[in-house]
Amino acid sequence: EHTPDTPPHRPADLTAADRNAPAVHRLYIDGQFVSASDGATFDSLNPYTGEVWARAAAATDADVDAAVAAARRAFDDGPWGRSTPQQRAAVLRKLADLVAREAEHFARLESTDNGKLYREMVGQWRYLPEWFHYYAGLATSAVGAVLPSDKPNFVAHTRRDPVGVVAAITPWNSPGLLMIWKLAPALAAGCTFVVKPSEHTPVSTAAFAQLAHEAGLPAGVFNVVTGDGRVGERLVAHPDVDKVAFTGSDAVGRRIAQAASGHFARVSLELGGKSAQVVFDDAEPEHAANGVISGIFAATGQTCMAGSRLLVQRGIADAVVGAIVARARRIKLGDPSDPATEMGPAATRAQYDKILAMIADARAEGATVAFGGGPGEPGGLFVAPTVLTGVRSDMRIVRDEVFGPVLCVQTFDDEAEAVRLANDTRYGLAAGIWTTDVRRANRVALRLRAGSIWINAYRTVGPFAPFGGFGHSGIGRENGPEGLAEFQETKTIWTELEGVRRDPFLLG
Ligand code: NAD
Repeated sequence: EHTPDTPPHRPADLTAADRNAPAVHRLYIDGQFVSASDGATFDSLNPYTGEVWARAAAATDADVDAAVAAARRAFDDGPWGRSTPQQRAAVLRKLADLVAREAEHFARLESTDNGKLYREMVGQWRYLPEWFHYYAGLATSAVGAVLPSDKPNFVAHTRRDPVGVVAAITPWNSPGLLMIWKLAPALAAGCTFVVKPSEHTPVSTAAFAQLAHEAGLPAGVFNVVTGDGRVGERLVAHPDVDKVAFTGSDAVGRRIAQAASGHFARVSLELGGKSAQVVFDDAEPEHAANGVISGIFAATGQTCMAGSRLLVQRGIADAVVGAIVARARRIKLGDPSDPATEMGPAATRAQYDKILAMIADARAEGATVAFGGGPGEPGGLFVAPTVLTGVRSDMRIVRDEVFGPVLCVQTFDDEAEAVRLANDTRYGLAAGIWTTDVRRANRVALRLRAGSIWINAYRTVGPFAPFGGFGHSGIGRENGPEGLAEFQETKTIWTELEGVRRDPFLLG
């Protein structure tokens, strides 16, 4: 019996002697909850209170190797490797039900671990079962093709085989969502999985192992190793890993691509962004302002798809920026678990320092602070929602990802200039277009180089909709049929039908 506020199982390392101490979350390897081989743990802080609220096992090289070996065995020799799509779909549906049952619990874990609003995290967790349902459906309906053979004595067809052992590495901003975006298609494809969450937010992923256990995933199919970047590095470089699915910064993504290339592991990378919100003068100013707010101040700007550059047509600029500043002034900063709170703290001290340093740099380079520009009212790791005007395209604040609540405003005169400014970035994750002219909306959408484009909306996602980036925003796509293909290899099978003996020295 457990309520949403108590974990489904007592953390295994919690003894009577330290009942008031933070819970210790263990590794999950080959179907077993285990401590690190040397017993080491690390702390996880609650960014709102600044307190250590949980500990997790610090995986050693031996633990990483054991997790990969378990996943390898489960893939090569275990029942999962010979499972039918229907059997895998049944497990996915079970996981969907368990996630639905535990959504509030996991939302609370994540909100405590990363300081994002409980309100937002519970929305995510209540939606996540759909990823398992979608890929359960796709697993049992997506098939290879019969090929149009030009040889009458052959049939040829393709199969979509699982790529093998998957290493998933996730960041701190939405640990559960970003794991499930990888896990659901990987399991649907028939892969086995080792996940390493961020050292700042290990708790929800470690706790998810309980659900994998309860769903009946065979030992070794799902494994969790917790720890810092060194654990990730060991995992990526492991020769038995066939595919690395990563979400995080472009700097780490580059290192991962290099390490994976040593053994030709397939790689998909979901990286950062500097996404543009393009507002034309025929947009409804209040509607556009609301969308811009949701794009940059929701999640305290700590989202890969943050709409951090506002490009607004000159004639409407004062009205839109005025509406944004008026709303920013009313944003309620505070306790992430309070339903009335609209913005929580930065997730880590390092992130807080980085955001403030980037704002200070922008000011030094001549940006004007239209609102905010420093620490947020409640103190601690809070940053004020910040609106910067008078920025130029060559400034660091316009070029680099802040991953915080900082909006840069630039104006444009016509459609061509809007497109040029929007595309003037090394990233290309997302963009918003605000206009009531349907022709203009579609003309601009065709010309923007970004993986997701929202017209009169922002931050909309779904399991059926491919998501990913152009340029430095990444390689590959998550979600939709493309998201499944990332975990599959295409195999072509030729079958000769008539026993025709052919010239052994000819190709064709
Ligand atoms: P990060 O790149 O610092 O860390 C991400 C993960 O990589 C962590 O688990 C970390 O421990 C691990 N890691 C670090 N060094 C490693 C190495 N050498 N080898 C293997 N793994 C290593 O990112 P972060 O600070 O946790 O997250 C913020 C970043 O994530 C932002 O840049 C953001 O844009 C990006 N992000 C992208 C998306 C997307 O879908 N495109 C979604 C969310 C976040």
